[in-house]
Amino acid sequence: MEKLKQELRIEQGDFIAYELAQTKDYFRTLIATIISQNTNEKNTYRAFGELERRIGVECAKLSQTDVQKIAEAIKPAGLYAQKSQAIKSLALFLMENYGCQIELLLKQGPEKVKEELGKIRGIGSKTIDVLLANYGYPVLPIDTHVKRTSIRIGLAPPGSYEKMQAHLHKVFSPEKRLEAHLYLIKLGRTFCLPRNPKCNVCPVSALCCYYKNKPQK
Ligand code: SF4
Repeated sequence: MEKLKQELRIEQGDFIAYELAQTKDYFRTLIATIISQNTNEKNTYRAFGELERRIGVECAKLSQTDVQKIAEAIKPAGLYAQKSQAIKSLALFLMENYGCQIELLLKQGPEKVKEELGKIRGIGSKTIDVLLANYGYPVLPIDTHVKRTSIRIGLAPPGSYEKMQAHLHKVFSPEKRLEAHLYLIKLGRTFCLPRNPKCNVCPVSALCCYYKNKPQK
């Protein structure tokens, strides 16, 4: 982690969910995380901005908005049919069960949050964990970058989401897990690219199993 923090900077525009969580608006944090599924940060910002402009990223408004209109607004992020349905279902669920106050659910602990939000189609383990981590629970969400970098470095063997997370939770202490999530993503975007990782200039190459076992040219 220290190596990564020396070389990489978390900047404005890198993580929309993390930025929104700084305002303590966890509904917006979760909506941004849903929009960010399978797309990059730039498209997520665009789609989130459109949703804000056309409808407003508020639980009460979204619960009353036609799903088609939500889909139109978030088009720049792709998979908009699936994501708009998840957003609408989430808003309705929170409206009916928590009076649109997501904190009332979050305060009940990670297991309850997983149980409740896990019932909504289109909201999976990673999305829920991003919400939990940004709220302050000690979980390390695993997205595609965290998965790839962790396996290559040798922090966790390939496996199910739960198994990989259990490994990573042993590696990173509770207070370091959100930071580890952010920096491993940044590593994956900057050096540890899916096809051609830039191992020769990577700050953690000395610690990396993939690099050690890579035939040197
Ligand atoms: S040395 Fe290469 S494979 Fe290892 S983390 Fe860095 S970029 Fe990824």
